[in-house]
Amino acid sequence: MSDARVLLVGAGGLGSPAALVLARSGVRRLTLIDDDQVDLSNLHRQVLYDDGDVGHSKVHRAAKRLEREGATVEVIEGRLLPPIAVDLVGRFDLVIEGADNFATKFLTSDACQLAGVPVVQAGAVRWAGWALASLPGRSACLRCVFEDIPRDRVETCAVAGVVGAVVGVLGALEAALAIRLLHGDETAAGELWSYRALAAHPLRASRVRPRAGCSCRERTLPDPLTVERYAPPPCTNP
Ligand SMILES: [Zn+2]
Repeated sequence: MSDARVLLVGAGGLGSPAALVLARSGVRRLTLIDDDQVDLSNLHRQVLYDDGDVGHSKVHRAAKRLEREGATVEVIEGRLLPPIAVDLVGRFDLVIEGADNFATKFLTSDACQLAGVPVVQAGAVRWAGWALASLPGRSACLRCVFEDIPRDRVETCAVAGVVGAVVGVLGALEAALAIRLLHGDETAAGELWSYRALAAHPLRASRVRPRAGCSCRERTLPDPLTVERYAPPPCTNP
């Protein structure tokens, strides 16, 4: 497991705890992709960074922090884009996605399906979120659960905000699912975890089956993936 190469898509609220847990668990060959800078308003949930990192590139500051944990870190300062996504994810043993937008979530899922790379994904808004691990061709994928990028107005953590503790739980959960997969525990794939911090029983897991007609079953994903497929829905904000 210590030789596994892991790509983290997003080095923010989910990617920060996931990367720290992985590095301290001995998964130390990490690559981070993110195009953002550290922002003061996000520090409460992005535990890789502190005040001195504000205004600097997330991936470069994250690499410095993770190298102190003994990790070997490569960085890609940019976005995951459709034309290169399949080739990029195909270089890794596992991908962890913690992006704050649906387009990147679906792109990561589709690219991993095409490349045959295990992927762990999560999302959160306010006090609730979810996590899902997928083994291409063998368990449900993101599209089996959520079908497609929402075209109506849907809140994301980028606009609605998210509680730092919630992404802390889900990022650590992503790391736990990743470690299970890297240890060969295939039962981790196809479990849909939901976390509702204010509920009486906040953490639940249910097994989801591949959905009939999903592109992961019908093998209908275009290769190469096209930019248009991941166009964000029109913004309805004034
Ligand atoms: Zn599917």
